[in-house]
Amino acid sequence: MRQIQMVDTRTQYHNIKAEIDKAVIEVMESSAFINGKPVQNFANNLSNYIGVKHTIPCANGTDALQIAMMALGLQPGDEVITPSFTYIATTEVIALLRLKPVFVEVDPQTFCIDPAAIEKALTSKTKAIVPVHLYGHAAKMEEIMAIAKKHNLYVIEDNAQAIGCDYTFSDGSKMKTGAIGHIGCTSFYPSKNLGAFGDGGAIFTNDDELADRLRMIANHGQSKRYYHDVVGCNSRLDTIQAAILDIKLKHLDEYIVARRKAADFYDKAFAGNEKIKTPYRAPYSHHVFHQYTLVLEGVDRDGLNQFLAEQQVPSMIYYPVPGHKQKMFEQFNTASQVMPVTDWLTQRVISLPIHTEMDEEQLHFITSKVLEYINK
Ligand SMILES: *Cc1c(COP(=O)(O)O)cnc(C)c1O
Repeated sequence: MRQIQMVDTRTQYHNIKAEIDKAVIEVMESSAFINGKPVQNFANNLSNYIGVKHTIPCANGTDALQIAMMALGLQPGDEVITPSFTYIATTEVIALLRLKPVFVEVDPQTFCIDPAAIEKALTSKTKAIVPVHLYGHAAKMEEIMAIAKKHNLYVIEDNAQAIGCDYTFSDGSKMKTGAIGHIGCTSFYPSKNLGAFGDGGAIFTNDDELADRLRMIANHGQSKRYYHDVVGCNSRLDTIQAAILDIKLKHLDEYIVARRKAADFYDKAFAGNEKIKTPYRAPYSHHVFHQYTLVLEGVDRDGLNQFLAEQQVPSMIYYPVPGHKQKMFEQFNTASQVMPVTDWLTQRVISLPIHTEMDEEQLHFITSKVLEYINK
């Protein structure tokens, strides 16, 4: 059996090696390492895939979120509502820009921001909502957009874990996550569903004016060469990464199918076990399974994590400490905030290996080891 990894980026590379190697060598021969042709080609192809008017490539997903928030003209102290149960990048950039992160609860089934909790957290200072499509499952975008419209708020989707996810509205129409809010952000960190061979990110919008502003901010606030209108930053996607991502984008849909197939295998193996809650799939979200995350009931979670490691099966806890309890946010005095769902999840979730190159032998081994520990 091949060694089990959380993500097997090497085997994935080997399956498309000829194409990738050729594209990388072409970039090296052209020597247009910054803003070479593949960058614009990839941005155009990604816009078509997501179904959005503008894609602004940038250096990573954290920058994408930061640039998005810089583009909205928010003032220090303005409040941004975001889930506490997410990766730190989502909330960190809010504080970095001297805005106030307002942490709210997630839905216990989908692990995504709870629209009712957003409504309860609204104040006269609320300016934006940042939903996160956690683990590859969409947040309730229809409800979130309705709240935003009613209260005149911006919505920035953190789509780092859900690229390719289809969202179905109540009228049956579909959109890809990342294209629904005013701005969408994504990451091409190697282990993400569309992963580069290094860092990368992108920002999506359908708004022409916002697109100009996002582009300008990502490029030193420059309006024309050496004329700088606003304080920006330097955030670019390398040409080599763009060339690689453009090839991998063509495979993204089959990668999603492969991830869902692995998830189906897990679901079936764990079905009916009352100590294991398998991931919920809401009818409005086509889960793309960035992570396959179980919620354990009456199981020593850290013991299982340790037992699996001894069997050469990696597993991860995403995330052990929720945002509102992170030391970096001490100044906001959020640690004592009551968040039963978030606290419950941080103590019970465990993510199993899931990627595009898993075979049944590996899946069988993993599920049998999990069940061996749980049923002992
Ligand atoms: C990965 C990730 C990011 C940040 O992306 P980087 O490219 O690592 O900066 C932001 N938000 C979420 C939810 C992520 O999973």
